[in-house]
Amino acid sequence: MKLILIGMPGSGKSTQGNLLSKELNIPYLSTGDIFRTLSKEPTPTGRYIKEIIDKGSLIPDDKTIQIVTEYLSRSDYKDGYILDGFPRTSIQAMNFKDNIDYVLYLSIDDVESLNRLLKRQDKLRQDDTVNTIKKRIEIFHKQTQPVLDFYKPKGLLQIVDGSKSIEGIHQVIIDILKNIHEI
Ligand code: ADP
Repeated sequence: MKLILIGMPGSGKSTQGNLLSKELNIPYLSTGDIFRTLSKEPTPTGRYIKEIIDKGSLIPDDKTIQIVTEYLSRSDYKDGYILDGFPRTSIQAMNFKDNIDYVLYLSIDDVESLNRLLKRQDKLRQDDTVNTIKKRIEIFHKQTQPVLDFYKPKGLLQIVDGSKSIEGIHQVIIDILKNIHEI
């Protein structure tokens, strides 16, 4: 099964992605994790990516598409995956030709997004400053919301209320997948 997770910063994509990955035994792949790893490399590419992430901007589409395509061509992902953070723009969505089963949108509002990120002091990231979070939320509305409009008419979009508890959301997702995919 090939799943895409979409949601604002702090919506719980990585939490839910990892839970689903364990339960369904499908590999989880996060473009945020990939880029954060690349950003630590002491190379021009590493420094370039770090600068973009720390600003809260997006890595250019061509680079992102190239990296994700390279990852997904690995044998680990041939039977399915849970993809977090991609596609994040219309261009990425239009250029992504894989046969996706479902797009799960974890829906929370702007205030919840900001509050959750500022509260996660235990695992605060370098891009979790008020200004950067606000920028990421704004980019979500401008660039990522259209990705939902892209998948909706294809009948692939499932909207999940992301404001519930971790367990509650997980159960909702499992129920959705059971109903439509008989997992
Ligand atoms: P969040 O959802 O909390 O903003 P992520 O871990 O998904 O965080 O992404 C962190 C950063 O990685 C983004 O702000 C962006 O700079 C970069 N990134 C992740 N996925 C993409 C993508 N598909 N296209 C461009 N940039 C991306």
